[in-house]
Amino acid sequence: MRKVFNFSAGPATLPEEVLAQAAAEMLDWHGSGQSVMEMSHRGKEYMSIHEQAERDLRTLMGIPSNYKVLFLQGGATMQFAMIPVNLMRGKAGADYVNTGEWSKKAIKEAKLFGAVNVVASSEDRSFTYVPPQAQWKRAADAAYLHYCANETIGGVEFGWIPESGDVPLVADVSSNFLSRPLDVSKFGLLYGGAQKNIGPAGLTIVVVREDLLGHAPKSTPTMLDYKAQADNDSMLNTPPTWAIYIAGLVFQWIARQGGLAAIERRNVEKASLLYDYLDSTQFYRNPVDRADRSRMNVPFTLRDDALDEPFLKGAKERNLLQLKGHRSVGGMRASIYNAMPIEGVRALVDYLREFEKSHG
Ligand SMILES: *Cc1c(COP(=O)(O)O)cnc(C)c1O
Repeated sequence: MRKVFNFSAGPATLPEEVLAQAAAEMLDWHGSGQSVMEMSHRGKEYMSIHEQAERDLRTLMGIPSNYKVLFLQGGATMQFAMIPVNLMRGKAGADYVNTGEWSKKAIKEAKLFGAVNVVASSEDRSFTYVPPQAQWKRAADAAYLHYCANETIGGVEFGWIPESGDVPLVADVSSNFLSRPLDVSKFGLLYGGAQKNIGPAGLTIVVVREDLLGHAPKSTPTMLDYKAQADNDSMLNTPPTWAIYIAGLVFQWIARQGGLAAIERRNVEKASLLYDYLDSTQFYRNPVDRADRSRMNVPFTLRDDALDEPFLKGAKERNLLQLKGHRSVGGMRASIYNAMPIEGVRALVDYLREFEKSHG
């Protein structure tokens, strides 16, 4: 067992088993005499890794055959631009839900390419809830409907999938990718950076319905055109081979845990343990409406922010790392992605209790 529990929001903790396997295969992958990092991306060894990773992701998520899986670079942030470029399809604008900092960034970028209609915003209460769909004001002819399924900074997660009718539904799932089963057929496009819940930084996964390909304007740079990427199996240029390899090992690890339903049960158990404790005391506080709380990112404040420094110092002494909250909201944040074992959450709750006792 490793000594520390890392609660970083991303790059984030990875399953120890995956790291051990990668270490064992580092110098000589499956008798090839090479590390995966050194392989030609067009050679048969690497191709087998790449294809296996896609197959395993398809199986895990139950991705229908009329969807493409793309392994891209540029982060979820690049998708904030690629989505409007490819999906605007001659329409005047798109619908966006604004539930926090990542929604805001997606909206800002989309405005470079068309009109953005913000259907609903939770900014009135500092992004502490998901506006119910009954209150959304959708445009008549939106190219697509975009939302952020889990706001990593605010700790707000959609526990439901919006109803978009014939309008393609687009979701940023960067920080809750593979944390629960998801009906892919309800979406036009899903995307996320790997470094939160899937693997190392440098890989962005896009799952896109085929009929949405091929609509980018002629002037679109080839690298930013989903169709060009899909036609070339994400190998228009050198893909992030190492990150794809590790992501593939993570997919296999999830399958060994029992798949997404089993992962979801564990995530619910971990999140409940932490929220139940936070709710049981006046000393700590999580501001998010209960129904909309994230299972992945748990922000909380201490009763007095003068205690933040001693809290973080004591946490570090107990090998509980990276609990400092995002600079925009302050306080603390515990990210408890798939790879965080329940022992890590137990150790955190024990420390919360102990710190309260000595400082409450
Ligand atoms: C981290 C994050 C992003 C940005 O990801 P990059 O890969 O760094 O571009 C976007 N959306 C959400 C929800 C995130 O958590």
